[in-house]
Amino acid sequence: MKTDKSRELMEKAGAVTPGGVHSPVRAFKSVGGVPRFIDRGDGAWLIDVDGNRYLDFCCSWGPLILGHGDPDVVAAVKQQIDRGMTFGASTEHEYNLASFIVDHVDAVESIRFVSSGTEAVMSAIRVARGFTGRDLILKFEGCYHGHSDHLLVSAGSGLVTFGQPSSAGVPKTITSQTAVLPLDDEEALEEFFRRHGDRLAAVIIEGIPANNGLLIQRHEYIRLLRALTEKHGALLILDEVITGFRVGMGGAASYYGIHPDLVTYGKIIGGGMPVGAFGGRADIMNKLSPLGPVYQAGTLSGNPVAMVAGLATLQKLSDGRLHAQLEERNRAFVASMISRLTNKTVMIAGVASIFWVVFQRELPRAASAIDTDGISHYNRMHESILNNGVYLPPSGYEVCFLSAAHTDEMLQQAADLLVSVISEEAHVWA
Ligand SMILES: *Cc1c(COP(=O)(O)O)cnc(C)c1O
Repeated sequence: MKTDKSRELMEKAGAVTPGGVHSPVRAFKSVGGVPRFIDRGDGAWLIDVDGNRYLDFCCSWGPLILGHGDPDVVAAVKQQIDRGMTFGASTEHEYNLASFIVDHVDAVESIRFVSSGTEAVMSAIRVARGFTGRDLILKFEGCYHGHSDHLLVSAGSGLVTFGQPSSAGVPKTITSQTAVLPLDDEEALEEFFRRHGDRLAAVIIEGIPANNGLLIQRHEYIRLLRALTEKHGALLILDEVITGFRVGMGGAASYYGIHPDLVTYGKIIGGGMPVGAFGGRADIMNKLSPLGPVYQAGTLSGNPVAMVAGLATLQKLSDGRLHAQLEERNRAFVASMISRLTNKTVMIAGVASIFWVVFQRELPRAASAIDTDGISHYNRMHESILNNGVYLPPSGYEVCFLSAAHTDEMLQQAADLLVSVISEEAHVWA
C-alpha cells in the first residue's frame, strides 16, 4: 500500500505541531505504521491522501452513526452555512435541538450546549458542586471524561485514591478533590459512601465505559450507585458522550433503567460538528448563570451549523429503526467472528453498535482486569488490518463503531479479514 503522501504530510506537520497531531492517539504511537491523512469520507469509507480506501470502524471516534456525508446532514449544514456560521446570539436551531433532546430523554428537563465533551463534563461538575455546595467528586478507574484538570487523575494502588494527577501540568491541589474507585466492585463503593458520601458533590461514570476497552457494567452495580448517591445527597452524572443516541434514544440511562441527575453529551449530538451538552434536572440546571450563581459560557456554544447537523442526525434516529438495525447487524457481525475464532484466547465484546476486540479469555468489567499483553497483540495486528483496507482505531484500548452506512456485505468481508488476522495473532499469543 502506497503511503508516501501521508508520510510526507506527517513529517511536515511534525515541524509545526507537537507530534504532528492535534489529538495524541492519531499519531499511531501504540500501533506503529504511517498515520493516514484523510482526504475524504464516503458512507462507510475513508479515503486517504494517497487514494487508499478503508472500511471505517473508527467513525471519528463515535459521532458518525450515519456514516460519512449523510445527505440529510450535509444538506442541513449547507443550507445553514449560506445564512451564516455563527452570530453570538440565540437562534431557533438551539431551541430545536434542545427541545428534541428534552422530549426524548427522561432525565433531561433542561440542557445547555457547549463545544466539546470535555467542556460538557467540566461544566456539569461545576454545576453539581454549585448545587450541592460540596467539593468532592468520585470517578472510576478506566472511565474517560475528557481532559479537564480535575478528571486527569490516575488510580493508585489502594481501593480508593485521592488526587494523583495522571498528566504533568495538573496541580495536585485541583485533583485532591477527585476520588477514584475501581469499577465493578460493590464493596468498595459501599465503603466509600460510608466514609465520604456526605461530602460528595457528584459521582461521574461513563454510560457504558468505552474509552478504556468496552467495560460493560452489571445492571445491579449501576443501580447500587444510583441508590447510594440518592441516599447521600450526591448527584449522579452519567457521561453519555459516547452512549448518548448510540445506545438507543435513551442512551445508557435507559439501558440500565436508571434516572441520572445530570447527563453529558457530545459526539453524535453534533452530527460530526464540534458539540457538547450537559443537562438534567431543571432545579440543578437553573443554578447556571444568568439564573443562578454558577458561571458558564461559550463564544461558539450552540453554534447554528452544529445544531442543524445534530438535529438532522437525531431526527433520522428518532423512530428507533436505525438503532435496531445497527444493533442486529453488530450482533450478527460479532457472532460470526466469535464462532470462527477457534482460539479462545481472544474475545469480542459488543453492545448496540459498538464492538471491541480483546486478546484474553474473559471479557473484563474493570480496568485492572484488562490484560496489557493482550492489548499489545491488538496493537501488533493493527497495521496489517489497515494495509488490507480496514481502519480500526489505532489503540487496543479503543472501541470500534458501526454506522448506518456499513452494509451486511461490507461487514462480512471485514469479518473474514479480521478473523484471519486475529486468528494468526491469537495463535502467537496462545
Ligand atoms: C470523547 C469523550 C469525552 C470528551 O469529549 P471531547 O469532545 O473529546 O472533549 C468525554 N467523555 C466521554 C465518555 C467520551 O467518550
